[in-house]
Amino acid sequence: MIKRVLITGGAGFLGSHLCDNFLKKGAKVIAVDNLITGSMSNIEHLIKNPRFSFIKLDVTSYLHVPGPLDLVMHFASPASPIDYARWPIPTLKVGALGTHKALGLAKDKKAIFALASTSEVYGDPEVNPQPETYWGNVNPIGPRGVYDEAKRFAEAMTMAYHRYHGMPVRIARIFNTYGPRMRTEDGRAVPNFITQALRGKPITVYGDGSQTRSLTYVSDLVDGIDRLVRSKETGPINIGNPVEMTLLEIAETIKRLTRSRSKIVFKKLPVDDPKVRRPDIALARKKLKWAPTVQLEEGLKRTIAYFRTVL
Ligand code: UDP
Repeated sequence: MIKRVLITGGAGFLGSHLCDNFLKKGAKVIAVDNLITGSMSNIEHLIKNPRFSFIKLDVTSYLHVPGPLDLVMHFASPASPIDYARWPIPTLKVGALGTHKALGLAKDKKAIFALASTSEVYGDPEVNPQPETYWGNVNPIGPRGVYDEAKRFAEAMTMAYHRYHGMPVRIARIFNTYGPRMRTEDGRAVPNFITQALRGKPITVYGDGSQTRSLTYVSDLVDGIDRLVRSKETGPINIGNPVEMTLLEIAETIKRLTRSRSKIVFKKLPVDDPKVRRPDIALARKKLKWAPTVQLEEGLKRTIAYFRTVL
């Protein structure tokens, strides 16, 4: 039974939706966040809930809370390429030192530890779709290396605690996820395209738009993570939607759904931008009985509705 859970990055996009999920299921939730990319506005609806508490803290320096914990979820990190270019050292530190602190806390509390890993561990993949058995193709010294290597280190550290201390751990490899509470200035494709489309500004497709991604709506992601932490699976396990699209198709879909008159323009492709990305979710289907259910257009409509309220 998960009665009390601590979530690092709890004021972030995924973290705040996870807070909602565990509160809804009756648990007590402690959100920890240093608010560099997280925001109080994501959790302000929870502040009055007696089962919710928030601690403003940088998890790379120190992490301790009084009382029992059943689950520690380490979801703190800048997660957009723009953000990790802006905060390269905090990105490395939260993936490395932050994971160490969060593992230490989970060990002390005899709690399950859950790590938000990423499809970025596969780098610019030479295998498509990516199964968990693929070791990846990462440039350690490129601009994305700060995130990719921190997350790879985080997986290694998590497995070391699991093997050496016999701790129960869960590793989720999260693929591109979108939904309400993404920041308008987040820099990733979906929030950029929606913000641009709603403001009538040019929609910026990088490269020729032939690179692919597979987009998961946030409620599907939360359901997958919830199933993972309640399962006995250590992972790593891919959580993502296997429907693969080109970026140009995604831009055109958003333009159509927003009824925008924005022009689609092409900009330089960022260094080391993965050319393809698509999860193989056979493992999640089998072990967690999980598969995404929200179609792209439905998820985008909900996300666009949210962006209309904040723009
Ligand atoms: N992208 C784009 N226009 C933008 C932002 C991103 O074409 O305004 C592209 C980016 O080059 C990449 C894809 O969209 O190929 C997904 O980028 P995102 O930053 O969302 O996440 P990534 O999957 O690269 O981590």
